[in-house]
Amino acid sequence: IQSNGHSENPIKIPKIKFTKLFINGEFVDSISGKTFETIDPRNGEVIARVAEGDKADVDLAVKVAREAFDQGQWPRMTGFERGRIMMKFADLIDESIEELAAIDAIDAGKLFTSGKAVDIPSVANMIRYYAGAADKIHGQMLKMSRPFQAYTLREPIGVVGHIIPWNFPSTMFFMKVAPALAAGCTMIVKPAEQTPLSALYYAHLAKLAGIPDGVLNVVTGYGSTAGAAISSHMDIDMVSFTGSTEVGRLVMQAAAQSNLKPVSLELGGKSPLIIFNDADVDSAVNLALLGILYNKGEICVAGSRVYVQEGIYDEFVRKAAAKAKTWVVGDPFDPRSQQGPQVDKTQFDKILSYIEHGKREGATLLTGGKPCCEKGYYIEPTIFTDVKEDMLVVKDEIFGPVMSLMKFESVEEAIERANNTRYGLAAGIVTKDLNLANRVSRSIRAGIIWINCYFAFDNDCPYGGYKMSGFGRDNGLNSLDKYLQVKSVVTPIHNSPW
Ligand code: NAD
Repeated sequence: IQSNGHSENPIKIPKIKFTKLFINGEFVDSISGKTFETIDPRNGEVIARVAEGDKADVDLAVKVAREAFDQGQWPRMTGFERGRIMMKFADLIDESIEELAAIDAIDAGKLFTSGKAVDIPSVANMIRYYAGAADKIHGQMLKMSRPFQAYTLREPIGVVGHIIPWNFPSTMFFMKVAPALAAGCTMIVKPAEQTPLSALYYAHLAKLAGIPDGVLNVVTGYGSTAGAAISSHMDIDMVSFTGSTEVGRLVMQAAAQSNLKPVSLELGGKSPLIIFNDADVDSAVNLALLGILYNKGEICVAGSRVYVQEGIYDEFVRKAAAKAKTWVVGDPFDPRSQQGPQVDKTQFDKILSYIEHGKREGATLLTGGKPCCEKGYYIEPTIFTDVKEDMLVVKDEIFGPVMSLMKFESVEEAIERANNTRYGLAAGIVTKDLNLANRVSRSIRAGIIWINCYFAFDNDCPYGGYKMSGFGRDNGLNSLDKYLQVKSVVTPIHNSPW
């Protein structure tokens, strides 16, 4: 890691060591020899050129992953031994926390301080969580109604394809890879083309940890080529996808049209945060701003629709505007920054065009609405009021620091409006009334409900979508199920006493 020489606030720019595909335990050029640029969103400059894998490279990675699955040790070693190697993997990540946090900061615009304190240590713990589960994967003894003895085996599903997005390059990588490794699968990971760098670093650490060659392969490249080659591959047994609803649909179609592989889809969201009259307004404002501004709004569970009950609405609007104006947008390496740049120019332009659309539709811009900082893809924290349910800013996932703030009167109205979306990923409720919180949580169709908190993720806490936010769960022991097959084994019992 080098310093930029700024004495008061040194910016740590990591030297990029890994830019090639990782196949069968080796870093290799793409078969076509092509590369693509990965860009620093702080300034639009090229960080590195990365190997551009496509169908031919995916075919090669699948071939080695298949051999590693059919003949290799990984699925056959004890769960305990797999867990031991995974623990080593986690320890190696702990040794490189600063470098990894810096890589995600320059590649994705993520805050370096939170990467260092939260994202990277958390992925090491995520690996440990699943490492601890690796020797506890077992089936059930069944109670047959006739004289048969029967039990289930839970076997690794085979070769898995993981297709992941750019917003949390490290977390997304391990949310997929850690349970699949624990289950005994072999795999190909395709990171998002915007953020390929930390995935390649993790491939290097996997090898150092002792994960056998061919078990974990990383093919960097574009979605329409490398990604599509994974979802339509005839020899991949399962695809685990996180990304947009539009691409999720393509992945499912490709899976259906190829070998009918099962898919798990973690897709977009437009999550409601409902704040009732009895809430403490100051802390509700803090929660609401965190809910939309954390990770510059590039988070699938962002609380982008905020419903505030009429009794506190005016006070909430005033305080939210004041607080948003003090929010610090700036270089992700500056410890004072609360919000870094959007991931790339495309995302930056998309967010600004939604803001323009909101203004044209008649919503009131309470704060923000413009790019900021001299260069790079920074956008001001933006709050719209006077929004209507049928406006695009309320219906579409913007995936940026843009909140729609709305007033409601009754509990029934809040529930109805919160559910008035094609998505169903998360929801937040702020109230001191426990019964109200429980009632509303059961009425909202979303995969995770946060009461008086937001973004309370945990390795043991499953989350995933209802409706068009997808299906399947990441995190928690449930996530292992995606990577396992259940096999029943039945034998007759002659002269059974029961
Ligand atoms: P995206 O759907 O554009 O891309 C996701 C991944 O799919 C990338 O690796 C991309 O290269 C690949 N891809 C693109 N086209 C493909 C194709 N035709 N076939 C196969 N793969 C293809 O999404 P994004 O812009 O990278 O990420 C933002 C989206 O991800 C948002 O909608 C967000 O809500 C969602 N997301 C969801 C969760 C969740 O857990 N539900 C978490 C993070 C992000």
